[in-house]
Amino acid sequence: KRAKSTGRVEAYQNSAFALAREQFAMETSLRRAIEDRHLRLNYQPICDLATGAITSFEALSRWTDEQGQEFSPCDFIPVAEESGLIVPLGRWAIDEAARTLAGWDRLAGGNCGVQLAVNLSAIQLQRDAIAPVLQQALSDHGLTGDRFTLELTESAIVSDPDGITETMHALKALGARLAMDDFGTGYSNLAHLQKLPIDILKIDRSFITGMLADRDKVAIVRAILSLAQALGMRTTAEGVETVELSQTLAALGCNHGQGYIYARPLEADAALAFLLHSRTS
Ligand code: C2E
Ligand code: CA
Ligand code: CA
Ligand code: CA
Repeated sequence: KRAKSTGRVEAYQNSAFALAREQFAMETSLRRAIEDRHLRLNYQPICDLATGAITSFEALSRWTDEQGQEFSPCDFIPVAEESGLIVPLGRWAIDEAARTLAGWDRLAGGNCGVQLAVNLSAIQLQRDAIAPVLQQALSDHGLTGDRFTLELTESAIVSDPDGITETMHALKALGARLAMDDFGTGYSNLAHLQKLPIDILKIDRSFITGMLADRDKVAIVRAILSLAQALGMRTTAEGVETVELSQTLAALGCNHGQGYIYARPLEADAALAFLLHSRTS
């Protein structure tokens, strides 16, 4: 019996060790990828549900390592957060998004008429002063702050309500919009929500997926929409995968939709082509 439980402990230690080693290997190559600018951003359109027009794109990080292996941000963002690499990664994402948007403006012969949304992690917000980073990117690429939305999650507020309030006001002072990402999945303090300068609530995909066959989900979505309306915020539904969903959400008064029904996240060139094409057809 004893041997058996020791074996189990050993198996556990071995797998924990393997996991730690794997994390360390990922951390090392992620560090190199950030330095060598081997990360990319893909861009997914966000559409006005009433008109179908693309109003913005969300920038999503992508990483393919030297062996050609693709990693999901769901895997490498946590590693970046644990290792502190989220600071250079987050700075890179803001600069890269601004570079792309300035390039689109040039190709469109003026303001291309969309905003970009960039994700900020709670850990990144604790460790880095984001407003000066955005300000630098704006001046480097000749853009105004109103071209950007910054998406943050409820965990950022929970972890440091005072610090985040200051950061949010500094970002607003640059003209940027603020979105509460994955809304409904975290521990929102509604009093915070009301006090903070949030412009947009993004309704988490978990409430949207399967919503048409689930009355409880419809009730939650309705409640979020009326909360947003009462607080003067706009709303974006994530994970819109069918025409029926986009129509239902529009009828419920949701402002924007994002999801595979419109497009998957696209490389920068393809995203611009998609935008320009959407205006001619
Ligand atoms: P998120 O911010 O909630 O981003 C939306 C995710 O949903 C993206 O996954 C997107 O590809 C996916 N998605 C969009 N439409 C649909 C749909 O219709 N159906 C389904 N099933 N999925 C859809 P992705 O690109 O894998 O990113 C995962 C998460 O990683 C993001 O979730 C975000 O939290 C994080 N992330 C990505 N890039 C960055 C970044 O540059 N910085 C930070 N801090 N986090 C990032
Ligand atoms: Ca997001
Ligand atoms: Ca989200
Ligand atoms: Ca989500």
